[in-house]
Amino acid sequence: MISEPRVASWQDEAACRGHDPALVFPANTDALGPARAICATCPVFDPCWQTGLHEQHGIWAGTSERERKQIRKTLGIHLTHEPEPQETAS
Ligand code: SF4
Repeated sequence: MISEPRVASWQDEAACRGHDPALVFPANTDALGPARAICATCPVFDPCWQTGLHEQHGIWAGTSERERKQIRKTLGIHLTHEPEPQETAS
């Protein structure tokens, strides 16, 4: 069987490749310091950021889901699969 050659992706250059997922993608997103230190050295930070801005889940370019949600709100970006932010009564 002949398979198609795999197309290279920016993710092949990710600094987080090969790191312990628990370190890079901690369950407790208040502990993103080690992940951010890795991201700060990453040669594909920009495409990761651009992609992650449109992703609801996971850690992308050192940002948590909550941080990206706030950034999207500031930039007026709404994901079709993301619930509308709840308005608070004043
Ligand atoms: S910027 Fe993205 S690809 Fe690079 S180390 Fe961080 S999470 Fe991984």
